[in-house]
Amino acid sequence: MLISAIQKTTLLDYPWKVACIIFTTWCNLRCGFCYNSEFVIPEKISKIKDFIPENIFFNFLKTKIWKLDWVVICWGEPTIHKDLYNFCKSIKELWFLVKLDTNWQNSKVLKNLIDDKLVDYIAMDFKNSFDKYNLTTGVTEDLENYKQSIDTIKNSWIDYEFRTTLVKWIHTKEDMEEIAKVLSWAKKYYLQNFKWWKTLDKDFVWKSFSVTELQEFKEVCKVHVKNVFIRGYDK
Ligand code: SF4
Repeated sequence: MLISAIQKTTLLDYPWKVACIIFTTWCNLRCGFCYNSEFVIPEKISKIKDFIPENIFFNFLKTKIWKLDWVVICWGEPTIHKDLYNFCKSIKELWFLVKLDTNWQNSKVLKNLIDDKLVDYIAMDFKNSFDKYNLTTGVTEDLENYKQSIDTIKNSWIDYEFRTTLVKWIHTKEDMEEIAKVLSWAKKYYLQNFKWWKTLDKDFVWKSFSVTELQEFKEVCKVHVKNVFIRGYDK
């Protein structure tokens, strides 16, 4: 696994639990609002002097048994790494819980991890209504993989959340209604503002929504999804 960085402790990523975060490298998408472009864009990644060897990470993890509950694996996009399966397996062998943050485009990898119980929680970025998905992710792709991932999650035991990072002029109430219809069965759906001060595409600066606007989106979504939250404002 290409590890760009490790955050050794956080209480913020999973409620009431202590976690460490692994930042992987590369991403197959190019969302303009991405705030970790240094882990996504090849020219920026090349400025990272050294990746962290896996054995350093696992040595660290072995000192944290009974002190950490979760290992969070996040961006770039973890599922594009062929060794993700074995990486998760090694973490599980040390009895840690695994949370995966993913753009859920790689449906086969996701299914294998879920079927073999190598992840315990998945957070999936539902970028936009399917009509505007490619506009939002910055790449043109077949959306079938996302639909297969939805089927996998729907039919699985796994705990999960969907979330949408909202950007002015990209997300409308109509888009949110479309997403909410697709996710009408989902357990949890989070709406969140993007970090306008640090974006992959500089044209995205200053385009976040007000709390009132987020509340309006939430009301639209709640018609279809039972549990909708605004990240940072709701519990
Ligand atoms: S926001 Fe996520 S999916 Fe989009 S480019 Fe950044 S890491 Fe990739």
